[in-house]
Amino acid sequence: MYDAHMHPNDLLTKHFRLAPPQIRALKKLGILTVRDLLYHFPARYDQAGADSNIVGLVAGESVTIFGTISKLDTRKSWKRRIPVGEAVITDSSGSVKVMWFHQPYLAKKFAEGMFVKAVGVVSGKTGKPYLANPHVEPADRTEAGLFKPAAATNKEPGTFFAVYPESRGVTSLWFRHAFDKLYAANILDSVDDPIPADIVKRYNLPDIQSALLYIHKPDDLRHAEAARKRFAFEEIFAIQVARARERQENDSLASFPIRDGAALAEKFLSTIPFPPTGAQKRAVTSILSDFEKKHPMARLLEGDVGSGKTLVAAATAYAVVNSRPPQRESGTLQVAYMAPTEILAQQHFQSFIEYFSHLPINIALMTGSGCKKFPSKVKRGEATDISRAQLLKWVESGEIAMLVGTHALIQKSVKFQHLALCIVDEQHRFGTKQRRELAHKGDAAPHFLSMTATPIPRTLALTLYGDLDISVLDELPPGRAKITTKIVKPAERASAYEAVRGELEKGRQAFVICPRIEEPDPAKINALQAKSAKAEAKRLQKDVFPEYTVGLLHGAMRPGEKDEGMADFVAGRIHVLVATSVVEVGVNVPNATIILIEGAERFGLAQLHQLRGRVMRSSHPPQCFLVPETKGEMSLKRLKALEQSSDGFKLAEADLENRGAGDLFGRKQWGVSDLGMEALKNVKLIQAARTEAQSLVEHDPSLVNYPALAERVASAGAELHSE
Ligand code: ADP
Ligand code: MG
Repeated sequence: MYDAHMHPNDLLTKHFRLAPPQIRALKKLGILTVRDLLYHFPARYDQAGADSNIVGLVAGESVTIFGTISKLDTRKSWKRRIPVGEAVITDSSGSVKVMWFHQPYLAKKFAEGMFVKAVGVVSGKTGKPYLANPHVEPADRTEAGLFKPAAATNKEPGTFFAVYPESRGVTSLWFRHAFDKLYAANILDSVDDPIPADIVKRYNLPDIQSALLYIHKPDDLRHAEAARKRFAFEEIFAIQVARARERQENDSLASFPIRDGAALAEKFLSTIPFPPTGAQKRAVTSILSDFEKKHPMARLLEGDVGSGKTLVAAATAYAVVNSRPPQRESGTLQVAYMAPTEILAQQHFQSFIEYFSHLPINIALMTGSGCKKFPSKVKRGEATDISRAQLLKWVESGEIAMLVGTHALIQKSVKFQHLALCIVDEQHRFGTKQRRELAHKGDAAPHFLSMTATPIPRTLALTLYGDLDISVLDELPPGRAKITTKIVKPAERASAYEAVRGELEKGRQAFVICPRIEEPDPAKINALQAKSAKAEAKRLQKDVFPEYTVGLLHGAMRPGEKDEGMADFVAGRIHVLVATSVVEVGVNVPNATIILIEGAERFGLAQLHQLRGRVMRSSHPPQCFLVPETKGEMSLKRLKALEQSSDGFKLAEADLENRGAGDLFGRKQWGVSDLGMEALKNVKLIQAARTEAQSLVEHDPSLVNYPALAERVASAGAELHSE
């Protein structure tokens, strides 16, 4: 009755009878094919004989619980007049409240004492959890039995049950049945191992067949652990192979060699009113020696906020705009500088004008809201507005030596004559393909410098940026006032406002960061406590700082509105800027010296660090207040790390150590799975995967001898390029 010819690439619908809601649920989990299903790994393993689980519910967890339902009731919530259905589910360990907001009728669907299964997310405070709008259905006690049979001593083989990331309609039970079916159809016989056999052997990894069995149906948790490690290795290895191939492709391209870069950069640095830091000098030296090579530079410059990346960019850009194109008597090589936002593009345009105004070159700005060129033909020493068409012409003819803009700058319509250096500020991945598109057909490819202040652990950098050489600015310019960071209990918020008022009275400005934009939708009860920027701006204006101007900035505003709000803040027309985390990236307002972050535990450490970086731009002593909403041990421990350290990269490592892996920055941001994230704690594994990937690509760049690996790499690479 089973299809004898089941293949990993087959669509699931070929072998499973699936209802449309199940198809949707599977799609949501990224599962279309048999292989996708095989690679949908359990989140954890429950042991038969383990106790019931209601007693241990923790807010934020997705859970499936079984128990009897009682105290069914409907009412209107007293605060918001929202109709709510309520119930209590009880198992042998305890009970938990259930609330259905806006769906009171659900409470009428069940009878008192009915045995049910509930799937949902735990909300509420620690010690007082409840399930908000869970999916509840009548259940069968044998299904529940898988999770909590009686004796805790039962350690027979086959007593571990995989628990999967679920979606409505596909439960862990469904997955376990599905795997039984796949294994019965001998699917494992037709799965090829993406990891080459010699590597599997060298690192003592379980082969793919055993690993797929162990991870879904372990008879011993050590086997499951070995399998998980293997798949983590596989993922990191596949990413590294993709990176190694990109690097190889990069190294096969021709570049514009720049010979006298070192002398030029030195000349530039001698014109700056302050000495460069040792780290800045080292970075400039590495970049200039890359410029002399035959293939384009591919380098990442990592440096905390305020470490002075712009100066490194300027010194190296200076070397480029003072170099002639090959075999030319006139003209210069060109530089493209890409900033993450329009405001930053404008700020950098100004900086580069200051740095380069004495040179006989043209600098231009291209953004969605207009183009500018410096110097102006009519007003010396100033920039003028020009049309986009005119700008494009001048960029193509080589008359513009340096073009500053947002990422829109890499559109096909922008053609350079001799683009020799491309600097990208804060964009996480930028493939070789995109880089090549920047160059003319058949022409040399630009050197590439990516800059980031996003503090990430070293292992993640080695993985994501495996194709790049890395320079680190691990030294701040001298004379920076140290930031004071303080955790404030919600009840002590008033004292933080006093500190803010103190700064405002001195003529300085403040940021207040909120985790949400809107008043929360009561149905998403999880977020109920999170302060919303809109409401908070209103409240602060009315009740706390009536004598000052409070402004609002959030991600859902139109770009024009955002720029306007930011411009008002930069100009000092707004004293307190209430914002969501949109201000995270690079905005430079030296007069802002104090920041208060509401719901601080909702942000990652690295993100909090970047946020407080917004007030570290001046010589006035900056202050940061963190106001957590909950008193959880873990979140306080994390926030304490911020009180103690001001090194973003150390904080990123601490984040990786302390938090649950999948939690770190969110897999979506990096395109690495939870399992892969777990592996990042293991430096040796990352190094091994990298070394193996590099040597394999060196010998077989097209992976002709490794078709299964090629397929795996294609999917790993695709994920990372989706940004
Ligand atoms: P980031 O790395 O965050 O981009 P910036 O390049 O914006 O940092 O530099 C932050 C500030 O530090 C700027 O005002 C810049 O002029 C100043 N700066 C950079 N390098 C030095 C240095 N070596 N000595 C003193 N100030 C410096
Ligand atoms: Mg910067």
